[in-house]
Amino acid sequence: MYKRILLKLSGESLMGSQSHGIDPQRLQEYAQQIKAVHEMGVQIGIVIGGGNFFRGLSGAQKGFDRVKGDQMGMCATVMNSLALSSALEAIGVKTKVLTAIRMEPIGEFYSKWKAIESMEAGHVCIFSAGTGSPYFTTDTGSSLRGIEIEADVMLKGTRVDGIYTADPEKDSTATKFTDITYDEIYTRGLKVMDLTATTMCKENNLPIYVFNMDVVGNLERVMRGENIGTLVHN
Ligand code: UDP
Repeated sequence: MYKRILLKLSGESLMGSQSHGIDPQRLQEYAQQIKAVHEMGVQIGIVIGGGNFFRGLSGAQKGFDRVKGDQMGMCATVMNSLALSSALEAIGVKTKVLTAIRMEPIGEFYSKWKAIESMEAGHVCIFSAGTGSPYFTTDTGSSLRGIEIEADVMLKGTRVDGIYTADPEKDSTATKFTDITYDEIYTRGLKVMDLTATTMCKENNLPIYVFNMDVVGNLERVMRGENIGTLVHN
């Protein structure tokens, strides 16, 4: 269905049932799901968050300097990227970690062309350190990289199976959308991604597909065209 995807994974879901850090089982499950889709011949770029370790905004609320806190958050995304790279390589999937901030030899400095060349050569590219700038999120980093690499879609893997009229974990009357426009997300005030990330996708026509990545096999189901989540479009 899609030739090139940008997969966004949240750092928080890497925690699995732990209170912080990386749950090895969740990491393995993600790696297996990515491998299955890679074997379908799909070109894959990935952005992972860092919320399982540190978020600049919550750091600032505890007295950290916001910019340093955000830089800590970006370093957290690098740790998660390395963990995913390691898990993928262990099961025979070649990866390339690209960083938005120079930090060789941990990863190569990102460029669009390096990314495309690597994906075309069969590597899964993991884009770490978000946008490289403070005051942004990895959702925005993900929109940016998705647009740059000319992905067909941004697949946002979450722990819920799509976008609802209200938070389904808090409101039992909430109903799910099979598809929704960016404008409706604004008018209904839905918190799918932050506004910067949503606006970048809208203005550059990058569709977002929100689905539950924590159910093993779901990434493959999405790629096979099963409608298990919510599509956001213009
Ligand atoms: N961050 C940043 N700039 C970026 C991306 C991320 O400063 O371009 C920092 C920010 O502090 C953020 C943290 O990295 O809170 C972790 O990213 P995020 O909160 O998006 O992770 P997730 O919620 O997806 O786990």
